[in-house]
Amino acid sequence: KPRVRFAPSPTGPLHIGGVRTALFNYLFAKKHDGAFILRIEDTDQSRFVAGAEQYIVEALKWCGISYDEGPDKDGGYGPYRQSERKHLYQRYAEELVEKGKAYYAFDTPENLDAHRKNHEAKGKTFIYNWHNRLKLDNSLSLTPEDTQKRLDAGEEHVIRFLSPPDETLRLQDSIRGDIEIDTNTLDDKVLFKSDGMPTYHLANIVDDHLMEISHVIRGEEWLPSLALHCQLYDAFGWKAPEFAHLPLILKPSGNGKLSKRDGEKGGFPVFPLTWKDAPGYRENGYFPEAVVNFLAFLGWNPGTEQELFSLKELVQAFSLARINKSGARFDPNKTVWYNHQYLQAKSDDELAERFRPILVEHVDSLRDEDSDDLMGAARPDRVRHVVSLIKERADFVSEFWELSHYFFIAPTSYNEKAVKKQWKDGTPDILNRLVSFLETIEDFSSNNLESHVKEWIGEQELSFGKVMPPLRLVIVGDMKGPHLFDIMGLIGKKESIQRIQKAVV
Ligand code: GLU
Repeated sequence: KPRVRFAPSPTGPLHIGGVRTALFNYLFAKKHDGAFILRIEDTDQSRFVAGAEQYIVEALKWCGISYDEGPDKDGGYGPYRQSERKHLYQRYAEELVEKGKAYYAFDTPENLDAHRKNHEAKGKTFIYNWHNRLKLDNSLSLTPEDTQKRLDAGEEHVIRFLSPPDETLRLQDSIRGDIEIDTNTLDDKVLFKSDGMPTYHLANIVDDHLMEISHVIRGEEWLPSLALHCQLYDAFGWKAPEFAHLPLILKPSGNGKLSKRDGEKGGFPVFPLTWKDAPGYRENGYFPEAVVNFLAFLGWNPGTEQELFSLKELVQAFSLARINKSGARFDPNKTVWYNHQYLQAKSDDELAERFRPILVEHVDSLRDEDSDDLMGAARPDRVRHVVSLIKERADFVSEFWELSHYFFIAPTSYNEKAVKKQWKDGTPDILNRLVSFLETIEDFSSNNLESHVKEWIGEQELSFGKVMPPLRLVIVGDMKGPHLFDIMGLIGKKESIQRIQKAVV
């Protein structure tokens, strides 16, 4: 049974790239009856952000992506926070030194900087590897005694991987196939830092091994590290997991990677971590189901026409074999389309529930004018009815007020263009006569109202065009909205007549 992990560093809010990685790991685990593990990679103390771990946990929860093991869920492979595993890593780094696969290096940052500048001056790039290793200050250029002396004296040092010259590494990735790497292009990466902490590379490999991770599914930005990671498994004599690097998520233009700075175009986080962060998908009114659904399609497809998938259905349909190599272009219109679909699928009850606080806010701001009526107008059954009439025009609940205010308050202005077009000399007279007729109708339900008014139009030898557009204008304030008799039925006889009278005087 596979064991996979999502291994974020708690450095800020989660963006969609990170959530997609978590989602694909989750789908793979669930599909194959395996375990999905959350591991917090917090060894880089300079990038640590308070609250970010809790944020990650909550963001996954919001998306409905649950993990089987994690910092707050022990599965026997813990602890799941690298900062709590600190004591583990040093001995592994030293094991590699003993095996001749790694070495101590004493170079100071100034020293390295000087080398870098020196190379640059000659138009070359400085790579810390076999090529100039012996000219540098490390145990390969020192006698064993000198090295030991400097270690004993407590001199600052790091442990570097000894990358071999002139080898061709053959790496495998489930998505990209076979990859060949010339080791001459690799540098001797630091495995263990002078602050006593492992680097990402060492901690990641040690933990994946100890946690018995079978498949590493992560973003393409980690592909350049694959060579080192495979060499580390070899150096330890451990079996490497299978690797799958997910394609980049591209800007809507297709030019380059989608970044946090592409905020309004969809690069925003799940939700903000602090008040300084941009509002996220949650604040922008996305349903988690919609987010999960569109994320699944960033780099994967089911091979059929079906576009709407619940999380459960995604688990069924998912396979690594259907993940593309090429970058996945992010389409903000598609994310809106998904939200629209999920909004339509929600019950009117749930939508009314979500709309209520927005409605109350608006109604509150109008309270002075018309308090009692308005609160009555916002009765739950009425709100539900209003929502059922307008939801098909909405992508987000936040649009409900704009689409439905005329159900709750009389228009305060009328669309000028529409007035010019629809308001004729005879209109006030027609509407006055209509008011007298409406007074006689007992049952103001939409259907009854419609058949009576239609009949009346016939009897009066008027046309629909003379009555209905101006009537909509005075009831709604504009030419928009659902079926007019539905609106009048809902706001009721008294309010309908008042709105007409207000307009004709
Ligand atoms: N800590 C790394 C990150 O923040 C994990 C990369 C990996 O999955 O190996 O993305």
